[in-house]
Amino acid sequence: MPCPLCEIKNEDLIYKNDLFRVILVDEIPGYIRVITNKHIKEFSDLSDEEAVKLTLAVKKTEKKMLEFLNPDKINIAALGNMVPHLHIHIIPRYKNDPWWPGATFCDKKRDFNYPPLNIQKYKEEIRSCF
Ligand SMILES: [Zn+2]
Repeated sequence: MPCPLCEIKNEDLIYKNDLFRVILVDEIPGYIRVITNKHIKEFSDLSDEEAVKLTLAVKKTEKKMLEFLNPDKINIAALGNMVPHLHIHIIPRYKNDPWWPGATFCDKKRDFNYPPLNIQKYKEEIRSCF
């Protein structure tokens, strides 16, 4: 079966370089994924230099997300159990969001109205940190 992260389609691309791409995920307002261009399974498959670049990208994205969305918390996760291609989830969390205090990968507990989000401005802000 082809890897869905190697076969790029219908992604809302924010930024791309030779190591990774940054996309907006529509499942949760403001949710971002950083995906390596290479099909590698684990973080330790990166060279040291690549690991530093990817880590800084996640840090910068988180900082912009905090500034722009002002969430109660940000969750960073690299699971890859379903899709074993290295990708980092960066997810804004709110104390009344549907999963709080659990992970967004769990079942929803409640409904929640997310704060309004200017998607174009948000994407520009995220892009500006690279
Ligand atoms: Zn892949």
